[in-house]
Amino acid sequence: MATETSNDAMQTPVMRQYFAAKQAHPDCLMFCRIGDFYELFYDDAIVAARELQLTLTARDREKKQPMCGVPYHAAEVYIQRLLRKGYRIALCEQMEDPKLTKKIVRREVTRVLTPGTVVDPGLGAEQSNWLASVWTKGAGAAACVGLALLDLSTGEFRAMEFGGAGAWPQLVDELGRVRPVEMLYAEGGFAALGTNKQAALRDPAARDAPDFPAQNPDAPASGPEAAFDGVRTRTPLEDWVFGADYAAPLLQRHFGVHSLDGMGLAGHDAAIGAAGALVHYLQKTMQGGLEHIDRIRFYERAGCLALDAVSVRNLELVEPLFSGESVQTTLFHTLDACCTPMGKRLLRSTLLRPASDLAEIEARLDAVAEAAADLPRREGVRRAMDGLLDLERLLGRVSLDSAGPREVMALGATLACLPRVQEAVGRLKALRWRELGCRPESLDAISTPISTGHPQGFSTESFTARLATQPGFDALHDLHARIVATLVDEPPVTFADGGVIRAGVDAELDELRELGRSGRQALAAIEERERQRTGIASLKVRFNSVFGYYLEVTKANSRSVPEDYERKQTLVNAERFTTPELKEYETKILTAQERSGEIERRIFAELRRELLEAAGRIRETARRVAEIDLLANFAHLAALRGWVRPQVEESGALEFVAARHPVVELRMEETGGGRFVPNSLSLEAWVGGGAQVAESTAGASSSVAGASIALITGPNMGGKSTYLRQAALLVVMAQCGCFVPAERMRLGLVDRIYTRIGASDNVARGRSTFMVEMTETAAILNTATAASLVLLDEMGRGTATYDGLSLAWATVEHLHEKIGARTLFATHYHELTLLADRLPRLKNLRVTVKENATGIVFLHTVESGAASKSYGIEVARLAGLPLAVVSRAREVLKLHERAETQQVAHALEAVDARAAAPLQMTMFTPLSQRIVDRLAALDLDGLTPREALNLLAELQRELGASA
Ligand code: ADP
Ligand code: MG
Repeated sequence: MATETSNDAMQTPVMRQYFAAKQAHPDCLMFCRIGDFYELFYDDAIVAARELQLTLTARDREKKQPMCGVPYHAAEVYIQRLLRKGYRIALCEQMEDPKLTKKIVRREVTRVLTPGTVVDPGLGAEQSNWLASVWTKGAGAAACVGLALLDLSTGEFRAMEFGGAGAWPQLVDELGRVRPVEMLYAEGGFAALGTNKQAALRDPAARDAPDFPAQNPDAPASGPEAAFDGVRTRTPLEDWVFGADYAAPLLQRHFGVHSLDGMGLAGHDAAIGAAGALVHYLQKTMQGGLEHIDRIRFYERAGCLALDAVSVRNLELVEPLFSGESVQTTLFHTLDACCTPMGKRLLRSTLLRPASDLAEIEARLDAVAEAAADLPRREGVRRAMDGLLDLERLLGRVSLDSAGPREVMALGATLACLPRVQEAVGRLKALRWRELGCRPESLDAISTPISTGHPQGFSTESFTARLATQPGFDALHDLHARIVATLVDEPPVTFADGGVIRAGVDAELDELRELGRSGRQALAAIEERERQRTGIASLKVRFNSVFGYYLEVTKANSRSVPEDYERKQTLVNAERFTTPELKEYETKILTAQERSGEIERRIFAELRRELLEAAGRIRETARRVAEIDLLANFAHLAALRGWVRPQVEESGALEFVAARHPVVELRMEETGGGRFVPNSLSLEAWVGGGAQVAESTAGASSSVAGASIALITGPNMGGKSTYLRQAALLVVMAQCGCFVPAERMRLGLVDRIYTRIGASDNVARGRSTFMVEMTETAAILNTATAASLVLLDEMGRGTATYDGLSLAWATVEHLHEKIGARTLFATHYHELTLLADRLPRLKNLRVTVKENATGIVFLHTVESGAASKSYGIEVARLAGLPLAVVSRAREVLKLHERAETQQVAHALEAVDARAAAPLQMTMFTPLSQRIVDRLAALDLDGLTPREALNLLAELQRELGASA
């Protein structure tokens, strides 16, 4: 590896500048401007050459100083590629014009570009570019973790806090959900993370394992190191920038407020520290352009259906389980028919935070129901939103000063659509529609009561009161008018040639333009006159930026040039001249152009400032548009796919009839893969035992003893996992306010969904599949309540059969006795079906198959009862295992099944015999069972000491052989 030695005797002045810059920014790839190139040196060069597929060269003959470079004008593309890979980049620019100095050109770092502070132009509409900042206040049980999140592309700025023992896991969850591209943390706060800045330059993706070793590989994933998994770019900042006495005043100055209380930040020092450090970092790394970040919202984590990062991943809510797989497997993709980018982003974040408040869910469902049933009005709303561009991102670009005249005009065109949206929404009657589309002046008109279909709907008074305090839908007429009145209809991309500002806006500008125009006419007249005077028909008046205006004559005609022409330049084929008259016009035209350019820019800057002053209004309107789009989208899906309104209530019910998995069903339709077989389910949370259960969930219906646990058995590929996920997805959809693919669905509010599905390995962090599985299971058993929904798929697979079975057994018992959560448990352990006889609220379900002469056919129907056998061997046969292996496996299976059934029955009898004692299952492997049997049958009195010793030795040998 190349070594960087700053005291290299051969060092040139340029390299001295380079080392100085590098020393100040050791964690950045240093792009050093030299002439028309950005050059990278040493390790930076090696990294960049590898990542960008550039040729690595060397500065010296011994090849000890690697370097590579990218052309200055093409640097943007390369920089974006490096940022996407998680690198930080510093631009070291030439601060003087090389032409104007004889000495070495001064160079300085002018900008630091990082994944979280640069808006990637390739960012998808529904994606967000989150920059996160984490700060811990206090220690031990009193520790409070603050998290701030900013999406620079839209200006969305949030903060939240996590406290108590669960703080770290909650932070891990949140980071797992939002997946920031970059994260800031206090250098001294996380000693365990190390702050080796040089190490930050290695491939960010491959960095986790060597640099951030867990102190104890067996510890559950709750330490800081786990929280930072998956965040590629981690940027340490000095501790003091997080301190409240620095961060709070900084935020106040930035937002222009006297107190942060109005933003919900009162008393949340950890969140303030995180947010303040984030703003500090932005100010440090970039120049200006932060006007659109004009507020921060403090999120209470309660108030929504909690989904941990594991469940979000397992259920493929927004991303496929395995990166690189098609996004078509996600619920987001299946539910996304939104018209606007704002709607898409809201859909995504809604799926990650479904509502848990019944009134809120009902308000959305009412709105969806109305629009679903009313095609003309629904289509009216959706069509009005057609062509609406990304308001938030456009605003972001205006603020970041990367918006040219075209973008501002595009913003204007989008604002022009807003009145139509408002009008279309105004035709719908449901409360939520009226809240979203209301005009302040039409408040009286809507104070007449309407039936909402919701028994606990808002009273008309409170609704009107709420509307009265709410500003109406702001269609931003004034801003639209300003833009249209200021810019020409089709402005050029840049200011270079002028013509951006409309005529009539500025008197001086109009005058200057007139001057320019008449000047150009005069030049045309000169050209004509000179042609006649000299008799050179090809004589031309031309312009270039170095020589200004000149008369050009071909070499062949140079003899006819009159005396008063003054030679300016001689080319191979032509000569260029000027005259005093021409010079005079040139001065006039150029001054007019220069001056009008200045005026155009000034007017544009004023327009930009005005738009930014209205940033808050624009964003509020964008928020409403997003919600309108989302609800209209749900209505559209409901109508298009025949989905039904779920009955959501305060109870422990989970019931659906003829339900389908929305993603799998659509995929099957699209690929012609047959029809999805609908299935039903009925579960009832048990609130008798759970002390954690909230009073409200213990409604009248809970006294009815329905099953709270469904144990699902059946062959591999039978549809067990699909059935489990379907239940969870339907709950998520219902609590988002979306209709569901079923004939009927009844849902008592769920507070949290837990999943333990499939094998997820985390070898890089040194934890086995089984460890991961048990960590997740522990989280479920420790925190689930009777109002939760628990999915356990193939628990215990990662360890030896009897270990796994015993753990699964005990887990089911705990869920049944202590928690009472609605639980779906898919398993390949047939022994567990015996539990149904022992646990009153557990029922067996099985996925059905048909056996015929050639093997088995999957019917995908779920019915009650335990599966008779596992069919694993049949499935293996379908997979093409050699027939000899298949038939041998059948023989072995027979032996094992016989032994096993005996043993379990045996064990259960033993347990029942000690009914009062806590359940202690002892299950032996066939081998150890044999030993136990022999011991039991032994006649001790008839045994000589020698025989006893021999027997012991023999038993030990047998055990040893099996170990
Ligand atoms: P298991 O978990 O029992 O091994 P899966 O849930 O993984 O089975 O399903 C296996 C296959 O069967 C999947 O490809 C899935 O698309 C299909 N499938 C599952 N349920 C149904 C259903 N109700 N109708 C049609 N196909 C289904
Ligand atoms: Mg499965």
